[in-house]
Amino acid sequence: MSATASGLRLTNTLTRTKEDFSPIDASNVRMYVCGPTVYDFAHIGNARPVIVFDVLYRLLRHVYGAVHVTYVRNITDVDDKINARALRDFGDDIAAGRLTLNEAIRKVTEKTADQFHKDVKALGCLPPTFEPRATEFVQPREDGRTDMIGLIQSLIERGHAYEAAGEVLFDTASMPDYGELSKRPLDEQQAGARIAVDTHKKNPQDFVLWKLSSPEEPGWESPWGQEAWTAAGWTGKPKGRPGWHIECSAMSSAYLGEIFDIHGGGLDLIFPHHENEIAQSRCAHGTSVMANYWMHNGFLQVEGQKMSKSLGNFFTIRELLETDSFGGREWPGEVLRLAMLMTHYREPIDFAVRKLEEAENTLRKWKRAADLASASAVEIPAEVIAALSDDLATYSAFQFLTQLAGDAIDGNESAAASLRAALEFLGFDVSAEVDKAVVDEAIAARLAFIAQKNWAEADRIRDELLGQGVQLKDGKDPATGERITTWEVKR
Ligand SMILES: [Zn+2]
Repeated sequence: MSATASGLRLTNTLTRTKEDFSPIDASNVRMYVCGPTVYDFAHIGNARPVIVFDVLYRLLRHVYGAVHVTYVRNITDVDDKINARALRDFGDDIAAGRLTLNEAIRKVTEKTADQFHKDVKALGCLPPTFEPRATEFVQPREDGRTDMIGLIQSLIERGHAYEAAGEVLFDTASMPDYGELSKRPLDEQQAGARIAVDTHKKNPQDFVLWKLSSPEEPGWESPWGQEAWTAAGWTGKPKGRPGWHIECSAMSSAYLGEIFDIHGGGLDLIFPHHENEIAQSRCAHGTSVMANYWMHNGFLQVEGQKMSKSLGNFFTIRELLETDSFGGREWPGEVLRLAMLMTHYREPIDFAVRKLEEAENTLRKWKRAADLASASAVEIPAEVIAALSDDLATYSAFQFLTQLAGDAIDGNESAAASLRAALEFLGFDVSAEVDKAVVDEAIAARLAFIAQKNWAEADRIRDELLGQGVQLKDGKDPATGERITTWEVKR
């Protein structure tokens, strides 16, 4: 499909307007979304951008073709809290040379990253095309992909960064349109920065690209801070670590190039994180933009209040999926997914038990209706694509699904098939809900009836299972000659 004919419109934070989406290269549409810091389990606020941009990813794949979309979501595994944990747990191994710092950090972050992957899979999200880890992009790479030290070097060479007191700082005065994304008045930026004005900064809003580590602190050998390192009485070459923002500039450039199509994340990242990503990337590459479309999802509250540990309304995704801490019960991932998408992505969302119950009821009705479809595959309804193409108007798409469900219940089988296709496209599981334990129990009961030669009961169980889409296959164990029954789901 040609770039202009996609009909896709997206609200761009850069211009604060809804714009026609036109990719730089329709054969490779490129999107970057800021990923989690894998220090602690992801909370439900973290789930929102993952779900929202998964819907956009699916839509882009539908419009441009699955192989023509590249989606990058990073894993932040450079963080002082993670570093402290790595040193605490593996300090001896590092000192003895049994583990490198990267390996120790990897051990600390592995568990959290694994849980994150389980969480987002349960939420029905597709894995991104690439999921780079920050630690692998600090130093120059063998494959030549953009790295953080190289990027900082470019910024210094181009006069956009300076070294002071062992740090490398971005010189915001060197960029005339710094602040274009957040559109924060300059005095507000300064007021915010004045809380902790560092005397070595040229301007209060200058931000850290690289900071010096002590020999005990985790760090990577770097070209900067030799003077401060030596002055502190330390020997050898200085070690340091990157600031937070630089990692996304490096990893987006590494996989998507200097300018790409869409950059996404939560509203809370606009300032300073995304503002500083733009400053770094544009000034390092000498480009006029970093990404053409900046998209931000709204905030998330829980039962009408800001989520916080002190208020006792702080929930991880895992807690909702696997414990009864929210509303006294566990919640299926797809119910959380639907609840999240019932509110438009740009609006604030109030995550509440009532909302989850509503989502569960809706999903149950849709699935019951979709189950009336025969096996034949059909196109995803144009109405659903049109709704999503209008700045991800999920609510309108869902209204159409409810209409399809009504038609399906009234006996319109093509409506059922369309509903089924739409649900699958939107990331909801429409495969037969077969409880393996229940099937195995039924098979055991049937075998018992067969042993008693009670064919009527045995056949009744077989037909009942078939009605649920489970087909039994009788055979003989070649070794023992005993009857064995296997089964498969028929659609
Ligand atoms: Zn980022």
